[in-house]
Amino acid sequence: MFTTVLTRGPVVRPEIARITGLSSAAVTKAVKPMIEAGYLEELPQGERAVEGAGRPAYPLAVRADREFFVGVKVTADELIGVVTDLRAQVRDAHRMAVSGRSVEQVVADIAALVRELGPEYAERTHHLGLSVSGDVDRPGGVVRYSPFLGWHDVPLAELVAGETALMVTVENDVKALTVAEQWFGEGVGADSFALATVGVGIGCGLVVGGRLVAGGYGVAGEIGHVPVAAGDGPACHCGARGCVEAIASEEAIVGRARAVSGDPALDMAGAIERAHGGDAAVRAVFAEAGQAIGLGLAAMVNLVGPERVVVSGEGLAAYDLFEEDIRAAFTTQLFGAAARCPLVVRPLPWEEWARGAASVSIQSLFAA
Ligand SMILES: [Zn+2]
Repeated sequence: MFTTVLTRGPVVRPEIARITGLSSAAVTKAVKPMIEAGYLEELPQGERAVEGAGRPAYPLAVRADREFFVGVKVTADELIGVVTDLRAQVRDAHRMAVSGRSVEQVVADIAALVRELGPEYAERTHHLGLSVSGDVDRPGGVVRYSPFLGWHDVPLAELVAGETALMVTVENDVKALTVAEQWFGEGVGADSFALATVGVGIGCGLVVGGRLVAGGYGVAGEIGHVPVAAGDGPACHCGARGCVEAIASEEAIVGRARAVSGDPALDMAGAIERAHGGDAAVRAVFAEAGQAIGLGLAAMVNLVGPERVVVSGEGLAAYDLFEEDIRAAFTTQLFGAAARCPLVVRPLPWEEWARGAASVSIQSLFAA
């Protein structure tokens, strides 16, 4: 019920009843404590009010500044933090280099970042959302495996809660970004959609039937580890072979570009420059990466059938180099009516990822 008001803006009670399928008595009963606690307010009867049968209908709106939320995206080099209000609007943002990759260092850095984010919000901030790439157990608050941090089974929520005295949620970074898009972005009103990210890793968050898919083991939507190379494909950091990530992750692209160019010092920026400069061998590396991503996306769409796929991620800097191959492989591999599924490219800055982490903490507060 609260989610309806949160994601759709001011709505009148009869409309909430229609959207949620609750009786008007149930809506009134659910709304009352939320108004009393200051999370919802009744607006004066404005132009968005619907003429009810007799009684005037006052639209209900979320009081955005009732409470603030901190979101932090944890990467191997940097922490990206934001403070958002209850409607996930960013009020403050700050970045900080991490002092090291050990659990102790990162936990201390997160606590330091939280202290630096606008003290004026501190009084009304009780929740902190963290997002980390890799295999994350959200209910348990545990990072089970983070390849880029080199972590295994880290009870991150508990450790950070001990340092910050905030209620902490931890979610996979792509799933967190998907929550932000579902509640406040491209996904509002969509029954199903997928958000795929391209860059250091290849990730995908899935929303089906209006819910983020976590999967029985917390690992769903891992298109990065869908096998797309026939036979003995390149080895992946996950231990398997022929995964999308083994061909299309930044590390894989740089590795292949070094091999074909004979330049062992080549980095991603250098590889992009060579490809743009017409180096056919390096261009082919990007083309293969694009094909792998397109096949991975098509496999996901054929299985899950989302209404649309949003592609984002820091790897979009090279998107012009593999877009054609992504789209070609994607379209060729789609089955039947799944071919109607649009592929939308949308650059999202790092702060959006931090906002995703904050969205998860907002969700954890109200989904129950
Ligand atoms: Zn893999």
